[in-house]
Amino acid sequence: MNPLFNFDTMPTRPVVQGPLTGSDVLSVSQFDRDKIEYIFARTREMREMVEQAGTFDLLGDKVAACIFYEPSTRTSSSFISAMQRLGGTVIPITSGVSFSSVSKGETLGDTMRVLEQYADVIILRHPQVGSAKEAAHAASVPILNAGDGPGEHPTQALLDLFTIRDELGQIDGLKIAMVGDLRFGRTVHSLTKLLLQYDVSLRFVSPEILRLPLNLMNSVIDAGVDVRETHSVDDVIKNADVLYVTRVQKERFTDLDQYEEVKNYYKITAETMEMAKEKMVVMHPLPRVGEIPDAVDSDPRAAYFRQAKNGMFVRMALLAAVLGRA
Ligand code: ASP
Repeated sequence: MNPLFNFDTMPTRPVVQGPLTGSDVLSVSQFDRDKIEYIFARTREMREMVEQAGTFDLLGDKVAACIFYEPSTRTSSSFISAMQRLGGTVIPITSGVSFSSVSKGETLGDTMRVLEQYADVIILRHPQVGSAKEAAHAASVPILNAGDGPGEHPTQALLDLFTIRDELGQIDGLKIAMVGDLRFGRTVHSLTKLLLQYDVSLRFVSPEILRLPLNLMNSVIDAGVDVRETHSVDDVIKNADVLYVTRVQKERFTDLDQYEEVKNYYKITAETMEMAKEKMVVMHPLPRVGEIPDAVDSDPRAAYFRQAKNGMFVRMALLAAVLGRA
């Protein structure tokens, strides 16, 4: 036998059967409270591990393909960092699929069927609602939905929820206000759905044309949640435990005049923060484009950069979980 290929002496890495082993992560509706707690426990372990050791060889035998058909900074880099901190490797197709075969007209299904020949997990961002589901149908390796157009962004919602718990010590009993583009903001859609499993009050603050989609509002009402809609941050700022601010999603508008009308609708300034509780958090999935001036960053209640950091820990937990190593 060729001594270089002596399989008897190669390290074996057993698969642990956890609640997400081999699963896709397509929507937050896959997560009940037990699964959320499981991911949060793993996330805390990942954080501790990074703080103590930086990297850890848990996925040294694994490769992730990271394919993004829409721009991204945080989601792509935190997934790549997550994989690398766990000792894994990444095929990064994040700087424009224009350099890949997609530009030759390849279907999403075929791209997935090819990538799964090389990778053990595929991280996908795509402009169409339902694209992650379509990809999961084509591929047998786990698909992680990193945003499907204005549809969902489940890994962001998990990191948002983790941040709320981490910052405020609880989720039940909180008053959570979401501000901005509630119509197209997929992070708002996913976080709202996830929060329906908790005993929270929800306040939705948006201009008329950016209200939460009706079907989602109906789910909120059906879940018996204490909910109100308003156009004004002043109506919610005094009582909010969480102010979840979002940008207006310019890329989703078909009429740019409409975008111009609403783009500067909200600004959370230092003066706004004076009206807020002492113990509360301001969150933002980022990028911000003027909704929160830099002057607010030094306020200890501004949690958006800590929130971004948590994204890496949550994504480490998810990668380890779906790859059977958590
Ligand atoms: N980064 C988030 C997303 O991909 C939020 C945003 O783009 O406004 O949905």
